[in-house]
Amino acid sequence: MDRVYNFSAGPSTLPVEVLEEAAADMLNYKGCGMSVMEMSHRSQDFQNIIDAAESDLRDLMQIPDNYKVLFLQGGGTLQFSMVPINLLRNTKKADYIVTGNWANKAYQEAQKFGDVVAAASSEDKNFTYVPKVGKDAFRPDADYVYITTNNTIYGTRYNYIPDTGDILLAADQSSNFLSETYNVEDFGLIYAGAQKNVGPAGVTIVIVRDDLLGFAPENTPIYLDYNTHAKKGSMYNTPPCYAIYMAGLTFKWIKKQGGVKGIEQHNIEQAEKLYDAIDNSSLFSCPVVPEDRSRMNAVFVTGDKDLDARFVAEAKENGIVNIKGHRSVGGLRASIYNAMPDEGIDALISFMKKFEMENK
Ligand SMILES: *Cc1c(COP(=O)(O)O)cnc(C)c1O
Repeated sequence: MDRVYNFSAGPSTLPVEVLEEAAADMLNYKGCGMSVMEMSHRSQDFQNIIDAAESDLRDLMQIPDNYKVLFLQGGGTLQFSMVPINLLRNTKKADYIVTGNWANKAYQEAQKFGDVVAAASSEDKNFTYVPKVGKDAFRPDADYVYITTNNTIYGTRYNYIPDTGDILLAADQSSNFLSETYNVEDFGLIYAGAQKNVGPAGVTIVIVRDDLLGFAPENTPIYLDYNTHAKKGSMYNTPPCYAIYMAGLTFKWIKKQGGVKGIEQHNIEQAEKLYDAIDNSSLFSCPVVPEDRSRMNAVFVTGDKDLDARFVAEAKENGIVNIKGHRSVGGLRASIYNAMPDEGIDALISFMKKFEMENK
């Protein structure tokens, strides 16, 4: 069977070149006689893999030297807990912007650890936009402000970085990591689970400013203290070795695409093409306000549940898979992460046109 166009929200499509390189390395990684999965994490071969991954990521994002890069386990979800445990370091106050399910889960979890409030929310319009907020939205003595830069389920994206003044900004970038340029210094902490844009599930990347380390409470489980991992170069215990290796291959691939800038331009073009097709259709529509539409997850609907379901089923017969909306939203969603080829976008758009003709 041929490869399909996989619009899954995560785990999601990876670059074919990356998969081919991993396949070529599978039985015998660069002549060392074993696969990366079988290697000691204390071996020089693996040390070289993790060092290269970190240094390529630092290049791609221009991460300053006073930021640590950590390769952790536990997914985005463990960060919902680790962020408050580590960053509620003075007043124990944090202000969250609630823009969807993931932001809300992070907000709920953080409440276990301090005085945590929702500074803004877009729930009033079913998360179809991103609130525009400035300094006055936040408590001036908050330890941090928390945002989710791309909302995977609702298909929205921050088109600005909230001005938090002197307050530290923490961001979940799980679903738009390395898909657009950011200035790392605008954030105290950035994290991203790998399985949306970087590699297989299993590794979560945390980029944290080093002056924020060392404030976790005494009774913090050792694994949940960023400092544990920072002091040991992500090797306090066995890291998710294979996922780190795959992420490293993806970083090299992004470099070949012109870095994050090159990828971003390509993502903008692909997203515009798809949203144009949705906006010009008489069958499909996008519920998200145009200025906040995600470049990674395009949500759209026909307005008729049965028709949505038929679209999903017929798309699959045409090699277009995982196009169903999240169970909490319904409708349709095309996740068009970095690795989605242009042919995938074109195939989806022409299938939408055909479906529209047949169902007018
Ligand atoms: C997928 C996702 C998560 C959760 O990731 P897990 O690895 O499943 O815990 C968190 N935040 C965002 C924005 C996501 O897209």
